[in-house]
Amino acid sequence: MNVVRINTAHQTTDSAINIINNVRSVSDCLAILVDTKGPEIRTKNISEPIKISKGEKIIIKSGDEQSRTGMLVVDYLHFTRDIPVGSSVLIDDGELELTIVDKVDDHLIALVGNDGFVKNRKSINVPGISLNLPSLTDKDRQFIRWAAANDLDFIAHSFVRNKKDVLAVQEILDEENSKIKIIAKIENTDGVKNIDEILDHAYGIMVARGDLGIEIPAEKIPSIQRRLIRKCVERKKPVIIATQMLHTMINNPRPTRAEVSDVATAIYDRTDAIMLSGETAYGQFPIEAVQVMTRIAIEVESSKDKRNDLPVPRLENEVSAFLAEAAVMSASELKVAAIITDTLTGKIARYISAFRSPRPVYAKCHTGKVKRELALSYGVFATEIVVKKNKYKLVETSLLDLVERGFISEKDTVVYVGGNFGVGGGTSFIEIASVAQMMHQKKEKSEK
Ligand code: PGA
Ligand code: MN
Repeated sequence: MNVVRINTAHQTTDSAINIINNVRSVSDCLAILVDTKGPEIRTKNISEPIKISKGEKIIIKSGDEQSRTGMLVVDYLHFTRDIPVGSSVLIDDGELELTIVDKVDDHLIALVGNDGFVKNRKSINVPGISLNLPSLTDKDRQFIRWAAANDLDFIAHSFVRNKKDVLAVQEILDEENSKIKIIAKIENTDGVKNIDEILDHAYGIMVARGDLGIEIPAEKIPSIQRRLIRKCVERKKPVIIATQMLHTMINNPRPTRAEVSDVATAIYDRTDAIMLSGETAYGQFPIEAVQVMTRIAIEVESSKDKRNDLPVPRLENEVSAFLAEAAVMSASELKVAAIITDTLTGKIARYISAFRSPRPVYAKCHTGKVKRELALSYGVFATEIVVKKNKYKLVETSLLDLVERGFISEKDTVVYVGGNFGVGGGTSFIEIASVAQMMHQKKEKSEK
């Protein structure tokens, strides 16, 4: 695994500290992503589960009253005002479905579609309706500040609808002077519709199929997944495909054929990351789930067909993208073992990643933070390097380190993507040569 997600819907800052300590004691390469609750509606004031039956009409309202048989109270103040007659209201991840049939004074009348029990603090989705919920809850604010204080790597913000929701998170991070990157979770109609402006402000996205599959008819998800991945690859931003990837492995040691195909499809669609949730959060076979997912990824990667590659557009006169593409082309057409780059901000590594190199990309980073951020980018293996006094020394040390770690050998031909020959700023060259040649050459120069 490369990234650990802490789902704050089920955590307090105190319990989450244990996860951080555990992760950091295992590896300093694993990125930690904090997932907020985001703007959502839940049932409230239910002391005992309330039975509802198909065909029954019940009241739904906001306020402080107790929920009881025949009446559900929800925690969104403008529920009655904002939900039109005819809407479907789904409770508990879509377990229960109701249809709004009337609006009377301060409450709605809903027709129950199937039998079940409504429990306290269960999710409520109203597909296709944009609600005026604030971007962040108090708990989200608290967790974002906590993530900043603990130097974590990503905030995945739930139910992002537009750029405003992303900017609200950014504002808190700026106040905390934090460089944490924001992943926008796309899980409703607005998020899909406003993907372009969201990508203008977010570092990457998660296709959060759990909620998306409730908010949007499930049969629309595969094409949305494809479209969102394509957008991210084009914009050179990381994308995560999430939820129910190996769902039956929560209870079974083996996945279904359909689940294996689903993981494969995400990879063929060219996602950066594939995510497990319930499988590893509370499932009975967490280790097996990670192993199975890894095996599928390795197999599928090795049988990918180049003809299905996405074209990645380059902006006019964009030197980094041109060099990144040239590096990947050489890795596809020449006998090259790896692409190697040194990167200050991670940008050139993400650019190379976007062109989806068939050979591994080794990124030498100047900080642990950038190294962990790159954990989310396709095909990039990031390691840290201490800043060297000159460029030649940096290349030489980077190569030596990779040889010592056994990632490449001196005989290999590699592509080196680098920059700043003393001028600063940006990538400016690619070099294709054997590791021995490059190391030797650079050694001479670095000694001069
Ligand atoms: P969640 O987000 O697991 O936090 O709900 C992912 C999803 O909705 O798919
Ligand atoms: Mn969700």
